[in-house]
Amino acid sequence: MIIYNPITLLVLTSLLTGIIGVVLLLMGRVTTTRIPGSGHWAVGSLLTAVAGVLIALRDVGPVWLTYTVENTLVMIAYTCYWVGSAQHFGKQLNLKPWIVLSVLAWCAQTYFTFGVDSLRGRYVSLTGYIFAVTVMHAAVLIREIYRSRGDHQQRLLGLYFTGFAVTFSALIFGVRWAYSVVQPQDGNDLLSSSWLQMLYLGAFTFGVVIVNIGFLLLVSERIRSQFEALAMVDSLTGVRSRRAVVDAASDLLQRSKRSREPFSVLLLDLDHFKAINDQFGHQGGDRVLQGFCRRIEDALRQSDVFGRLGGEEFIVLAPATAMEQAGELAERLRLAAVTSEPDLPGVTVSIGYTDWRMADGSVDDLFNRADRALYAAKAAGRNQAMHC
Ligand code: GH3
Ligand code: MG
Ligand code: MG
Repeated sequence: MIIYNPITLLVLTSLLTGIIGVVLLLMGRVTTTRIPGSGHWAVGSLLTAVAGVLIALRDVGPVWLTYTVENTLVMIAYTCYWVGSAQHFGKQLNLKPWIVLSVLAWCAQTYFTFGVDSLRGRYVSLTGYIFAVTVMHAAVLIREIYRSRGDHQQRLLGLYFTGFAVTFSALIFGVRWAYSVVQPQDGNDLLSSSWLQMLYLGAFTFGVVIVNIGFLLLVSERIRSQFEALAMVDSLTGVRSRRAVVDAASDLLQRSKRSREPFSVLLLDLDHFKAINDQFGHQGGDRVLQGFCRRIEDALRQSDVFGRLGGEEFIVLAPATAMEQAGELAERLRLAAVTSEPDLPGVTVSIGYTDWRMADGSVDDLFNRADRALYAAKAAGRNQAMHC
């Protein structure tokens, strides 16, 4: 029983990398908007897997296949990993110098295989290219880690994990490359068992699997944040969802508790909306809701928070706004709502509003008060604003 068997290690990790590549490919297409970078990562993984198998076949396969083709695949794969990460984090790359560099490295490869057979020459050119690309890749991730520090909304496990794994791989490739440059004569083969080769092989096998696990984490984190972003937006009108507004209201409440700065809550409910649906159909009603939202958005300040609570009920949170100004705002919104558009049925809105008070324990206290005011506005004949 050989404890260190590089062939077994290579074949097993190649299989694993290939499987992760397929999973990355499928996961990148789970949501309607594709996960940026997942395609390149997947291609990189699949190419690395094939390259690993070709390395394992070096004793039996032809040189052009197990060296030249294999090295080409590895070069493309590591470039794909880098490009994938850049795409994932929205960084523009200038690939032209890299195409030139890769062609040069590839020519050197071929020359040192078929022209002058030099293992050292092959190492210097191949590892040099992979080292350079991996450093660029690590730079993309480290820049992103630096950029997202202090961003508590983001989940950063995938980024830290991948960033560390890629940086560590770059280090190993760097040491191996430097060693192949200063080495007096041709060194060992990739599958030999010197400590440096074991480390290098480790970076090619375990290292790739670990980096790929990082990609999986990044993809699943992105899918999760896409779904969370969806939950924050109302799909019909494009305004904030109930959840987003309740979150914003809680934040405002906490802030006012500390600063004593006033803020107001306005509840808006369209009048006789059932009749609009009955007359113009549900789709007609939907268009009325969309038009209403655009008009209200136009009438609001940048700092105001507008959202849909459900059905034909909407809410406005007005920061730094006390009761009196809230009354003026409510009147402005009431008028904005009735402005009818040529091809839309006319509509009116009833508004109940209230301001924040020290005694308010939770946002529900505010919402309930505004709701009572809204009820009063409805009872008083609709198309008016009342406070409580
Ligand atoms: P009121 O003046 O008392 O508010 O009367 P109303 O008819 O507006 O009130 P009610 O709550 O009885 O009816 C609300 C209607 O809104 C009923 C429901 O079918 C309609 N509605 C709820 N959500 C939507 C939607 O997304 N699209 C459309 N078109 N209609 C909706
Ligand atoms: Mg209504
Ligand atoms: Mg209603």
